[in-house]
Amino acid sequence: MAGTPADHGFGAIVARHRGYFESGKTRPVEWREAQLTAIETMMTERSDDFFAALWSDLRRNRVDADATDVRFVADEAAHARRHLKRWLHPEAISTPLALAPARAEVRFDPLGVGLIIGAWNYPVMLTLSPLVAAISAGNAAVIKPSEVAPACAEVIARHLPEYLDPEAFSVVTGGVPETTALLDQRWDHIFFTGGPAIGRVVMTAAARHLTPVVLELGGKNPTIVHSSANLSVAARRIAQGRWQNAGQTCTAPDYILVFKDVAGPFLAELKAAVQSFYGDDPRHSPDYGRIVNHRHFDRLVGLLDGAEVYHGGQHDRDDRYIAPTILVNVAADSPVMQEEIFGPILPVLDVDCIEDVITTIRSRPKPLGLYIFAEDRDVAARLLDATESGDAAVNDCTIQPLIRELPFGGVGESGMGKYHGEWGFRAYTNARGVLYHSTILDLGVRYPPYSEHERLRGFVMRTMM
Ligand code: NAD
Repeated sequence: MAGTPADHGFGAIVARHRGYFESGKTRPVEWREAQLTAIETMMTERSDDFFAALWSDLRRNRVDADATDVRFVADEAAHARRHLKRWLHPEAISTPLALAPARAEVRFDPLGVGLIIGAWNYPVMLTLSPLVAAISAGNAAVIKPSEVAPACAEVIARHLPEYLDPEAFSVVTGGVPETTALLDQRWDHIFFTGGPAIGRVVMTAAARHLTPVVLELGGKNPTIVHSSANLSVAARRIAQGRWQNAGQTCTAPDYILVFKDVAGPFLAELKAAVQSFYGDDPRHSPDYGRIVNHRHFDRLVGLLDGAEVYHGGQHDRDDRYIAPTILVNVAADSPVMQEEIFGPILPVLDVDCIEDVITTIRSRPKPLGLYIFAEDRDVAARLLDATESGDAAVNDCTIQPLIRELPFGGVGESGMGKYHGEWGFRAYTNARGVLYHSTILDLGVRYPPYSEHERLRGFVMRTMM
């Protein structure tokens, strides 16, 4: 079907990139370094276009836009460029005496042509940060930004070909038909960021060619506030994590499990934190974002139906504004507790003891992040041992992906595969074990007929293991 209208010409694009990859042009360290430098240059020279697009799509303020998208991507590229030679260096593996003289090593070989499908909430970071990993590992790639953040998709599509090697990289814009046609192609790797429902669509398509995938998905991130927590610091960090980007962050706290004895003071601190960050009317705060579109706005406002609002709750459809909202007396089976909220609403549930917390977390799919606010270290250790999540933080939340060498990614329903720093490099490589064996010695005991040298052979084979 390559080149037919049904495939939108994607077959030809993949074939061109695969041809280039197979020519070996993407393998030299110098080429990779040049592409990483080009990303740094693009993020610097075109930063105003990226800032404007992030404002237009999400009303993201410049400080957040720099920390999570523009500067973040430039720094990720610089970090990879600086560490590339070390990551790429083959890892020596010791060989058994019976094989001497020999040596073995792990090479980190590129996979080929990757497809990167991004989500809309951090539209620059979620497409270009996987691209940094793909480049470091020596791959070609096609990038498909989310159509739900159209201004960012347009800026990426406009500038990326100006800076990066067009024989190795393309940007495809579009929605479901285009993504479906892309998934029809044979890829050497697929990197998907989005929800678990589309994650299943991606994995099904990948299965046809046994293509390896990284799935960066979402989920409901539990956040525990223990009786021993520093309540004012916990409230401020949770407020930042939940209400940055108007709550549209995959690692944000999705719901709070607060120990009953500190629930009252914690709620008061949380409300105070919101007011000190965004003022009495967050609508006028230059630091507070908007909901990405009306579909998501309607979905989120629907979650407020019948809920008990402790703080916030105001909304304005024309402005796609929903105030930072805290819900209390939330039942575990209420609508807001069924799916990832992905917006500025934070349900707070009371718990009596650690067992309650563990039961609640274990009764739900494995989340992307798990956050524990407790000064009592045993509490954190116990909760980490008794639960599973992609990442976790103790006395903080949401920001752990900013630590460059901390593996980032989900587990179970929240995804598979890790990236950032060397973890991203590894995700895009084939760890290829290679044995280099000398022909100087060639012990006969390894070959049939086995009846000969039986005792000696047993000894030699054992030393080979
Ligand atoms: P989504 O799953 O709706 O879409 C993601 C991408 O898939 C988009 O590029 C879209 O064009 C494409 N797509 C949509 N429908 C498709 C279909 N039927 N077939 C093929 N492709 C299709 O996700 P979203 O709404 O963009 O993002 C929100 C979700 O992403 C949340 O669940 C959030 O937690 C998650 N997320 C995860 C991370 C992470 O790093 N783990 C980061 C950001 C967002």
